[in-house]
Amino acid sequence: MIWGLLVDYASGNGDFEELVWACVHVNGHWIYGAERSLPNLEYREIREGLTLKDAAVKYQADFKWVLLWLVHRNREAGETALTFLWKHAKAIKTEPVLNDDLRYGKSLIDSGSAASPICEFILDGIDRHNKGEGDIPLAACKVCAKFMVVERPGRKMYCSKNCGVKDFYAKRGGAKMYMRDLGQNPMFKKKQKK
Ligand SMILES: [Zn+2]
Repeated sequence: MIWGLLVDYASGNGDFEELVWACVHVNGHWIYGAERSLPNLEYREIREGLTLKDAAVKYQADFKWVLLWLVHRNREAGETALTFLWKHAKAIKTEPVLNDDLRYGKSLIDSGSAASPICEFILDGIDRHNKGEGDIPLAACKVCAKFMVVERPGRKMYCSKNCGVKDFYAKRGGAKMYMRDLGQNPMFKKKQKK
């Protein structure tokens, strides 16, 4: 799932290349008429002599702003994120190819940057959200603030069992209670002896 790949990448332990190709696939652009505009079909970074790995490093901070906006919806993050998303999504240039009936496809004439397919996917997600056609399945853990994928917004609050337990104790007397219970836990005692 693309949102999961996005969270992993922005948190520093994901595969950028896999994310890019997953977005290309979902956005559904045809690479058509390539003989006419071959140089433009490579991502800008590749034309500039960089690799996708370089691009992954280059854009990581930008995508963190995007996640901050998507999850917390605050204006400051939104302004930075939207400028970035728009610039890269709109760098993709396509032309229409008529199929049959009213159906048409989009053939790619400029792929933009390596961030472009991801930005296009996210903007589409935002548009769907604004039209009431589906929410963005992202949230932040209530305890450690880590970004995570959720099936339905508002349902999942913790990234892990550990964070859920921490919050449980925070409500019932805080860290002291937590350490006391942990000390009485036979599993914990066993670990201490080693
Ligand atoms: Zn957490």
